[in-house]
Amino acid sequence: MSGWQLAEISLQSVCKTYLGGIQAVRDISVEIDDGEFIVLVGPSGCGKSTLLRMIAGLELITEGDVFIKGNRVNDLEPADRDIAMVFQNYALYPHMSVYGNMAYGLKIAGLSKAEIDERVQKTASMLELDGMLERKPRQLSGGQRQRVAMGRAIVREPAAFLFDEPLSNLDAKLRVQMRIEIKSLQRSLGITSLYVTHDQVEAMTLADRMIVMNNGQAEQIGRPLDVYEQPASRFVAGFIGSPPMNFLPNPRGPSNIALGIRPEHLTITAPDDGLVTGTITMIEPLGAETLTYLRLPDATMAIVRTEGEKPLPALGDQVGLTAEPRYHHYFGEDGRRVSDPSSHHQPS
Ligand code: ADP
Repeated sequence: MSGWQLAEISLQSVCKTYLGGIQAVRDISVEIDDGEFIVLVGPSGCGKSTLLRMIAGLELITEGDVFIKGNRVNDLEPADRDIAMVFQNYALYPHMSVYGNMAYGLKIAGLSKAEIDERVQKTASMLELDGMLERKPRQLSGGQRQRVAMGRAIVREPAAFLFDEPLSNLDAKLRVQMRIEIKSLQRSLGITSLYVTHDQVEAMTLADRMIVMNNGQAEQIGRPLDVYEQPASRFVAGFIGSPPMNFLPNPRGPSNIALGIRPEHLTITAPDDGLVTGTITMIEPLGAETLTYLRLPDATMAIVRTEGEKPLPALGDQVGLTAEPRYHHYFGEDGRRVSDPSSHHQPS
């Protein structure tokens, strides 16, 4: 056998144009490996759900191809695609017990009672839902409902899980808890997963690789820390990371090249020693870190993030801002990353 392996899911130049001409997804290609956790992340309306729904078979593919385990699935019904969808609103049947909810898809698929029972019991114990099989969804907490929704997907033993913002209805604390649960469950099951979220923290923490989307396009596909450290575009640089990357008037290069520096990489200096001078307008001591806000000469804002409660200059002070060159990110007029700004000249 040769060394090559078929991707678990392969998207080849996938496009979606809705009736009326909205181009929701523009030419996305990616090869997803078996067991990978891929997160589609981007602002509302960037095309994440449309892409997921095309893979699921809930939306027609306008152009391009989707392969799951080597089979072209463009024309297959959702049920024939060997995937399981975990929805935002759980979509549990309220009148059915936990057991019924988990067994339903298997019944439809024509499995024997014995096999259904074996799979439901096994999955329930994996999810610690053993004692709750007779309960109705309304008798469960949000987290338990989430686990039933996942259980219903797991029992079908699909090639891949598709998650569409599954945590967005939960309160902040439960969201973090469920995020950890989904991640460790996915790890232990090793099931290829595609997960849609607009929350960049969720994307950073869950993803093996993320696809950062903007306006229907994949701006960057990569591992979270690679994307964080080497954002491919100004859009990605501003979207991934919180507080977002600062964009400063570029003191050294041509003015059509933007200089980006992350808040944790800026240092406060004497007014004329920095890359730029600013006035401190607000200080937020958060305990573990302090955020200092400055107004820059071009009336934009910069944020400096320092660890702990360092003594900083006071409100109203004029200070300089600087950063080591390795933390400078340059972006051209088209928004793409530029490695060597000195190679770009302003038209004279
Ligand atoms: P996201 O999931 O990133 O919020 P969507 O995939 O839902 O984005 O939407 C992408 C774009 O397609 C948006 O401009 C949205 O208004 C549009 N859109 C989504 N669904 C439809 C539809 N059924 N008909 C027409 N336009 C749609």
